[in-house]
Amino acid sequence: MNDAKSTSFEGSAAGSFSPRPLTGAMADEVERLLSGRTRDIRLTGDLRRRFDERLWRQRAKVIRSWMTWVAFVDVLTLALNAMLLPREVALLMVAPACLLPPAAILTALIWTKPRSAAVQRASLLGGMCVILLSVALVGVFAGGEFYERHLTIMLFVATSAITIFSVPLAWTIAIACYALALYFTFQWYNPLVDAGSVIAGTLFFSCGIIATVVARRTMNILAQKTFLLDCRDQRRVAELADANARLERLARTDPLTGIANRRWMMETLESLWRHGRETGIVAMLMCDIDHFKALNDKLGHGEGDRCLVKVAGIIQSCVRADRDLVSRHGGEEFLIVLPDVEEEEAVAVAKRIRESVEAAALPNPSSGVGPSVTLSVGVAFKSAADTGVSLANLQHEADVALYRAKEAGRNQVCVFHRPPPAAEQIAARR
Ligand code: GH3
Ligand code: MG
Ligand code: MG
Repeated sequence: MNDAKSTSFEGSAAGSFSPRPLTGAMADEVERLLSGRTRDIRLTGDLRRRFDERLWRQRAKVIRSWMTWVAFVDVLTLALNAMLLPREVALLMVAPACLLPPAAILTALIWTKPRSAAVQRASLLGGMCVILLSVALVGVFAGGEFYERHLTIMLFVATSAITIFSVPLAWTIAIACYALALYFTFQWYNPLVDAGSVIAGTLFFSCGIIATVVARRTMNILAQKTFLLDCRDQRRVAELADANARLERLARTDPLTGIANRRWMMETLESLWRHGRETGIVAMLMCDIDHFKALNDKLGHGEGDRCLVKVAGIIQSCVRADRDLVSRHGGEEFLIVLPDVEEEEAVAVAKRIRESVEAAALPNPSSGVGPSVTLSVGVAFKSAADTGVSLANLQHEADVALYRAKEAGRNQVCVFHRPPPAAEQIAARR
């Protein structure tokens, strides 16, 4: 199941697994694997690579801790043996026991950062070989009762590694076979044990080790299944977020012109005013196409729609894309909000919009103004000193200015001039 060759950690930073979106093919593979039997799960290709990247941090941490503990226990045991055992026996144990700490520490160091699969495999298997050999040789060198005891300890050391190292199955099997081969070989030459006992003992321990390897394999498969379920969850969450974003976009967009709709504009402005963020200067431009009903009546509703789309585009091209707000406020009305502009600038923008619409020469043969589409604009302005001007006030003032533009003959810009505040209001504000 875990093909060692497919395990490459190159280029993946330790612990830097990030839920990158799955490609379509990978998502299909996730579904295919999850729809089959758990025991048949085999990760390959990109999925396998992602799984390894994700697992690396935890896997390396477990291996490093195990290596450190084994080295520590080895040194501790050596010290205890020196204190508790006869001096000559303890001395015999020193040389083989000294093999273990450097091998364990070197392996732990190699596993501090991601390396190629080959280096990781070689370091782990090499380190395990030396460690197991060291434990076995301590018994062999000491002889007597220690001979078999240390071979058994060596098997326990191997079993603990097999149990907790979540490495490819081939690596696990290699450690298991090596430990059993070591046990059998040294036992074979144990003067205190006959051949039958050696074979029986090896078979007995083989059963235990095989059971551990099978358990390890099951855990590996379950880890892969958990990874696949995570991938599926991530994909679903991403799809849901996508659908939500689409819905949100739809909810704030006017379907005909593609610009913001009235609801979004009002919510945005209300939020600005409510949170007191709109404390500076702001201009509001209310635009209305002149004699639009006549255009509809003469050229048809379809032509009217096309005109609305074009006018919306012209308006957008006349404002600052990054700051100004434009919405379709009603049938042929557009509301524009210009933050941080002086009154003269706002009027200049309004004039530019009106001129651009006229210059576009969109036909409106029945307009009372001229042969093409024209626009009337009402401008209301709030300076930083006008703190008492509410959103509704400003909007009303823009409407009044628009009405005046219509009254004055259409196709023009009209500015609302707010009467100066009465003396008592100024005093109250102070
Ligand atoms: P005025 O110059 O005074 O603004 O006159 P007007 O004809 O533009 O204004 P009026 O309010 O009388 O007519 C607005 C028209 O806009 C009436 C309505 O049929 C049309 N209208 C509203 N929404 C749409 C739309 O989405 N598409 C089209 N084609 N026409 C629309
Ligand atoms: Mg209107
Ligand atoms: Mg109109």
